[in-house]
Amino acid sequence: MDITRESETKSVDFSTANAEGLRALENAVHRDLEFLQYPRREWVSPRTAADGRRILDVLVIGGGQSGLVTAFALMRERINNILVIDENDEGLEGPWLTFARMKTLRTPKYLTGPDLGIPNLTPRAWFEAQYGEGSWEGVGLVPKEEWARYLAWYRRLLKIAVRNRTRAGAIEWWEAEECFCIPIVSEDGPGELLARKVVLATGISGSGQWRVPDFVTDELPRHFYSHTREDIDFDALRGKRVGVLGAGASAFDNASLSLENGASEVHLFFRRKELVRVNPYRWAEFSGFLRHHRDLPDDLRWKFIHKIICMGQLPPADTFERARRHRNFHLHPGSAAHGIAVGDKDFVLKTANGEHTLDYLIVGTGFVTDLSSRPELQKFSSSIALWEDRFSPPADECLEDMLRHPYLGPHFELTEKNGGEAPWLSSIFNYTFGCLLSQGFGGASISGMKYSVPRLVEGITGQLYRDDIDQHFESLESFNLREF
Ligand SMILES: Cc1cc2nc3c(=O)[nH]c(=O)nc-3n(C[C@H](O)[C@H](O)[C@H](O)COP(=O)(O)OP(=O)(O)OC[C@H]3O[C@@H](n4cnc5c(N)ncnc54)[C@H](O)[C@@H]3O)c2cc1C
Repeated sequence: MDITRESETKSVDFSTANAEGLRALENAVHRDLEFLQYPRREWVSPRTAADGRRILDVLVIGGGQSGLVTAFALMRERINNILVIDENDEGLEGPWLTFARMKTLRTPKYLTGPDLGIPNLTPRAWFEAQYGEGSWEGVGLVPKEEWARYLAWYRRLLKIAVRNRTRAGAIEWWEAEECFCIPIVSEDGPGELLARKVVLATGISGSGQWRVPDFVTDELPRHFYSHTREDIDFDALRGKRVGVLGAGASAFDNASLSLENGASEVHLFFRRKELVRVNPYRWAEFSGFLRHHRDLPDDLRWKFIHKIICMGQLPPADTFERARRHRNFHLHPGSAAHGIAVGDKDFVLKTANGEHTLDYLIVGTGFVTDLSSRPELQKFSSSIALWEDRFSPPADECLEDMLRHPYLGPHFELTEKNGGEAPWLSSIFNYTFGCLLSQGFGGASISGMKYSVPRLVEGITGQLYRDDIDQHFESLESFNLREF
């Protein structure tokens, strides 16, 4: 099985971005889109509520890569009565320029996805237009700032309508208008949006929440710890003894940044007897899995994802090396942490492999799946079918978190726990990490985008067409454009 491993970028001077080159590429993209403009007809009749308010065809919650690419894919199907909202300032959507503390993406540079098959829209085309033909060869993994710049360019070039500083609250179905009412809070204050379909592109934790183990929240005063998802004052860790819980990529990124900011020592604790060194995500980069995981029967979908999850997450080689090169970095395998004894200025972390006196704790334990914790789903999370409602795993494959994954339909749509209770749930599409079990790689990953966004959009266009099918037949019946 031939799989290449990438490494750090060798020789690209990022201060020399060629604006002329980028303009030429933008013209090429516009030309591509013009050449590919078929079918051309707008086909979804706009709706307004009885009170005159506009009803969007699709509201996309989340302006990160998933939200942007979904919006572009919808626009290519001539669905333009759409809006993307994001709670963050423009350019700060997602983790890239906020809590992602890696130097580069973790996924290989050859992954495509946002381009939707248009070569001039690929990250490589964007990169080479600025840094010169062949410059891509000098890239190992794409620097995260460059990825964020690519997404900003993508949004601007394709004129994707995004409303920033706008947070969606608890979605509600409005039977009378056959649409959703979505309360929002934005810089203009509270408001509401109406939409026929809703896409949850709310990120990796979009089907749950970031998790801090109970023994930490119960026993350690708040000023002694942060989760990797949070803002961390790394300067304040200078000269400190820092503990890190977890052995995923973010745990190592935060350990490295603590060391690079002068922490006196950093101890990384993890439960496994040894570090995971094989990345199942690399195995999964083939059309069979990416395109057809969702077609498998439940027991096989469960079996594959259970295996992928049990194989574990690991830091990319550079990320591991970035921490390991520090002599005051200490790995503690087989050291599940279970308790804390707090002192005046420091605390003792109790692990399965001994106790350690520390000054600060960084929690890199990821997130849990729990739809009931999502603000957007507050009004009906208990009506959403989960895997635990549809499947009983073999005893030796029972992972609680997997059972809480939403049991999605073939196009990422939510399904009802009890038939007839909330049929409108199928008009909400979960394009977050919570789709993993049902759909394989989809939301919240670049790896699955190439296949998952077209599948998601096929679900939305299919519903909009079927919902208005009488109108479409009437328009056929009344169609009398004479050819001559
Ligand atoms: C640190 C880190 C590094 C990663 N590195 C990689 C990588 O190298 N390669 C890879 O393939 N994947 C990576 N991932 C996984 C994944 O690709 C990223 O999480 C990516 O950001 C997912 O894109 P997204 O658009 O689905 O979600 P996000 O980029 O997270 O965007 C979702 C947006 O929705 C907003 N939002 C959420 N709820 C609401 C609401 N109610 N109202 C309004 N806005 C809301 C969020 O604030 C966020 O801005 C990484 C994830 C993390 C956390």
